[in-house]
Amino acid sequence: MKVMKFGGTSVGKPQRMQEVANLVTKNDEPTIVVLSALSGTTNALVEISESLSHGDRNAARQQINALHEHYKNFITALLKNDSSLKKATDVLNEHFEFLTIILRISFSEALNKDILAQGELLSTKLFSIYLDEINVDHVLLPALDFMTIDVHDEPQVGTIKVKLAQLLQKNKDKKIFITQGYICRNARGEVDNLKRGGSDYSASLIAAAINASVCEIWTDIDGMHNNDPRIVDKTYPVEQLSFEEAAELAYFGAKILHPASIWPAHFYNVPVKLLNTMEPSARGTLITEKAGSVGAKAVAAKDGITAIRIKSSRMLLAYGFLRKVFEVFEKYRTSIDMITTSEVAVSVTIDNDVNLPDIIKELEPFGTIETDSNQTIVSVVGNEIEETKDVMKRLFDAIEPIPVRMVSYGGSKHNVTLLIDRQHKEQTLQLLNKGLFGL
Ligand code: ASP
Ligand code: MG
Repeated sequence: MKVMKFGGTSVGKPQRMQEVANLVTKNDEPTIVVLSALSGTTNALVEISESLSHGDRNAARQQINALHEHYKNFITALLKNDSSLKKATDVLNEHFEFLTIILRISFSEALNKDILAQGELLSTKLFSIYLDEINVDHVLLPALDFMTIDVHDEPQVGTIKVKLAQLLQKNKDKKIFITQGYICRNARGEVDNLKRGGSDYSASLIAAAINASVCEIWTDIDGMHNNDPRIVDKTYPVEQLSFEEAAELAYFGAKILHPASIWPAHFYNVPVKLLNTMEPSARGTLITEKAGSVGAKAVAAKDGITAIRIKSSRMLLAYGFLRKVFEVFEKYRTSIDMITTSEVAVSVTIDNDVNLPDIIKELEPFGTIETDSNQTIVSVVGNEIEETKDVMKRLFDAIEPIPVRMVSYGGSKHNVTLLIDRQHKEQTLQLLNKGLFGL
């Protein structure tokens, strides 16, 4: 059995959705199809939620109506038969009526999650109606019946596995299963989600839970590129990556894959393929246990980083110092991305600064605290970098004009991470493209 996940742009236009049906039915293996919301929908739902949270019902009503219009046009172009069109109209009415009803309810976080869930519920139901119209036998599996997160918002593959197995057991004769990405139930049984872009994560969790032969992630680009194609002119898809390399790239900024989506596939050893709906025959990127080749393979960058330096001539030599520093971050559930140390200071980076004022206050007894915001992490990823002779030399020669705030190397065998000021990001990526990949 395999998993095929299609992102928002892959189902965002009626014709695209029809092509997805084509791709799904072309393959013989039993398949769980995971869909995102149509492109733009989740953003629209976020806006509706925001209007409501500000008590601006008129704005919310207008946004809901505009979205409803968009979907009405979508189904008229997607479907031919009157009976399917009637079914789809009923689905739209049901979901947009729900959105209209909430205009009268007072806003809460639980309601926000309900609103955000509408996109995936709509895309899967409309896709299912389309499959019915073209006579493709399939089952709609509600993600809310099996995708769960615990009190720490962590999905548990074990639980998902048991629930999903029961659902599949009931439909033993079927080959195509459709389900929603992104949405889930939390420990209180409420509708929740796996955070923005979380459909990839859903796909990987499902692939792990059913021990899939492959987890295919279909998007609108032909794989993970060696550099950011939005910034650098000449980039190319990387053919093969190890799970570690892919996780590093996804975490440090490659937008194609949700950062959390690597671990379930990695842990359960399910190969992941990144494929392009617009160019289905392109090879894409294969992610497996094996790295394929050695040397630098790709560069990714992540903005919005804050660096914190803790200077202390007294404490740093003392054992237990780093533990105390880390405990502060742990207390505020803020994860550290990079860390570098010297005898008199330690620097760490975080990408979530909501608790920064509290963190600084608690760090102050340890020494002098300096922070730099608006930093960018640039991660150079590859296999056995430390054993590939000239990578470090080429890297630093390439970025010679760039002031580097932090360097992290040796944490693993497959990356070198730099911290630079955001203003130097474009230049750094371009220089690295030349220096490392000769482009
Ligand atoms: N629809 C959700 C979002 O836009 C989840 C996803 O597409 O992965 O964030
Ligand atoms: Mg997406």
